[in-house]
Amino acid sequence: MNSDQLGHLNQKMQSQSQRQISAQAAPLGSMEPQPRPPLSADIGALLEEARTLLKTLGCTQLADRLEIRWNSRMRSTAGTAFAGRALITLNPRLLEFGTAEVTRTLLHELAHLLAHHRAGRHRIAAHGVEWQQACAELGLPGEKRCHDLPLPRRKLERRHVYRCPHCKLEVPRVKPLRRKSACLACCRAHAGGSYDERFRLVKLQAK
Ligand SMILES: [Zn+2]
Ligand SMILES: [Zn+2]
Repeated sequence: MNSDQLGHLNQKMQSQSQRQISAQAAPLGSMEPQPRPPLSADIGALLEEARTLLKTLGCTQLADRLEIRWNSRMRSTAGTAFAGRALITLNPRLLEFGTAEVTRTLLHELAHLLAHHRAGRHRIAAHGVEWQQACAELGLPGEKRCHDLPLPRRKLERRHVYRCPHCKLEVPRVKPLRRKSACLACCRAHAGGSYDERFRLVKLQAK
């Protein structure tokens, strides 16, 4: 069972979170794309460039406090922004994907700091309009909330096993299925591709 096969679950309802993510990834119509500044992989150079960028946007105070570090303990996370400390940590594995990915991640995290700085005491959504605006100003228009780089994820044990009552296909899962799910192959073969209760996956065990 690989992650592709997980896609073979025919779920009755489209996941709420999926719809929210695609709505948030919609292009930003009014924000003009700006040229991306060339940043290198050198942390001192990255810091200088990031500070210069912040100063051109009028955020001298934030620029002076800014810190950037590599954190080799990061796994699937590309970068993190700690707004209270004006600190950005970057995953050194990003270097395997070229300096453009380092730049993109740095600007993504810098946009979090910039949005938070501007919001002051107001609470803002992590990847809301303030962050999207900051991304556009930093030369990162249409940035997504999550990266799609093949960074290693923690191996999670798939403890929940389901079986199709018809074709006997077994489907192991990390988390239990929250919605009625049917075997996609059988739904396609015998129900024109729509959800059919006859092929509803049955739970076998939880280790
Ligand atoms: Zn983010
Ligand atoms: Zn089946």
